[in-house]
Amino acid sequence: MFNLVLFGPPGSGKGTQSANILQTYGLKHISTGDLLRSEVANQTLLGLEAKKFIDQGLLVPDEVVIGMISSMLDECPDARGFIFDGFPRTVEQATALDNLLDFKQTPIQLVLSLEVPQEELTRRIIARGITSGRTDDTEEVVAKRIGEYKSKTAPVADYYKAQGKLKVITGDLNIEQTFTALKKIIDQHILPVA
Ligand code: ADP
Repeated sequence: MFNLVLFGPPGSGKGTQSANILQTYGLKHISTGDLLRSEVANQTLLGLEAKKFIDQGLLVPDEVVIGMISSMLDECPDARGFIFDGFPRTVEQATALDNLLDFKQTPIQLVLSLEVPQEELTRRIIARGITSGRTDDTEEVVAKRIGEYKSKTAPVADYYKAQGKLKVITGDLNIEQTFTALKKIIDQHILPVA
């Protein structure tokens, strides 16, 4: 099994690149943002609780997202591997993920971090908000999300750096150039599916 974390701030293109990667390498996509939005849309208890945090640009509590990830891993025992997108977002989530994967004897092999200049991030998210219908893509909430990223999520990069798993993709590259850069690194770990 090949497990990959796609890491980066809101608007860095994790969702777009995940779609490219999962198609090329036959991996299963786990996006906590998508999972949470689907819970909100289905008006589940979890969704109603999570919405309060999402709409304020705050992270949803660790135990909620860790529980979701654990169920997803159990649901897909035969996957070739997983791409984690938008997770882990705190050092506590990263530790919990390592524990879950240790148990399954299938660790995280690679963490790819997308670095994009701050002004470009804000511009992209506000532009996306016009068409996405996402209630958290407004200027005020985006500022909060970036604050949460800096204080709680950025330390996750150091956590993986210490494990020797972090690779950084820098520069304001377009979608295609970014994918080429990511592919070059992933190819050293796993072959594309035919
Ligand atoms: P983005 O990366 O553009 O911020 P996401 O779709 O990944 O968007 O996340 C949207 C919101 O969902 C976050 O602002 C947060 O409230 C919640 N969320 C998503 N993933 C997590 C997570 N791993 N831990 C806590 N909250 C999360």
